[in-house]
Amino acid sequence: MRQRHKPWANNFLKENTHLIIPDVLKNKGKWQELFGNDNPIHLEIGTGKGQFIAGMAEQYPDVNFIGIELAKSIIVMAGSKVKKTGCNNVRLLHVNAAVLTDLFAENEISTIYLNFSDPWPKKRHAKRRLTFHTFLEQYQHILHPDGEIVLKTDNQGFFEYSLVNFSQFGLELKEVNLDLHSAEDPENVMTEYEEKFSAKGQPIYRCRAVFT
Ligand code: SAM
Repeated sequence: MRQRHKPWANNFLKENTHLIIPDVLKNKGKWQELFGNDNPIHLEIGTGKGQFIAGMAEQYPDVNFIGIELAKSIIVMAGSKVKKTGCNNVRLLHVNAAVLTDLFAENEISTIYLNFSDPWPKKRHAKRRLTFHTFLEQYQHILHPDGEIVLKTDNQGFFEYSLVNFSQFGLELKEVNLDLHSAEDPENVMTEYEEKFSAKGQPIYRCRAVFT
């Protein structure tokens, strides 16, 4: 995703520490306490500009949402979008998902969303793909036994790679959808990338997977 320097980013971070949590390691095992309820926690990795997490937070007020995003100039846009909704069930973390098990305790998360993750098509970058086995190991640790991974992408190569990796890791596929938008789904909240690619006529792939 294109990143531009945002002169207002540092101020936004300073003024919105209730939303974009500064000390990301402090709440491991205590995220529900921070939300002030015992609702399930859904985690989006690579939140981007926040359209999905803001839409989901409005649609599901009884779910706590945490979004992780690597790029500072992008997470502040997500923060600004969430703020406009007035929803209090979202927290955002400016951090690399590679340290997930430092952020969350075992079984703390109910659902993981991987939306239009960077495909990293070159073989030498495979370790950066969010469905590489080192990430799957972390997902297995933080995900509740009843939890699931929900992946959406426009990228056929990344989709196939992820399905193979899920199955090699022993995940069970609950859904494999090769054209998500071919049928009306009022529950589907579109991401920025999803809107962009589906407008160009590209099919959107989705799968749901559970650890067995
Ligand atoms: N999910 C959004 C959407 O569907 O519109 C954004 C998709 S964009 C292609 C991928 C996003 O994931 C980028 O904003 C990137 O900075 C973020 N990202 C990539 N690798 C990450 C990682 N290891 N940890 C956290 N965020 C990551």
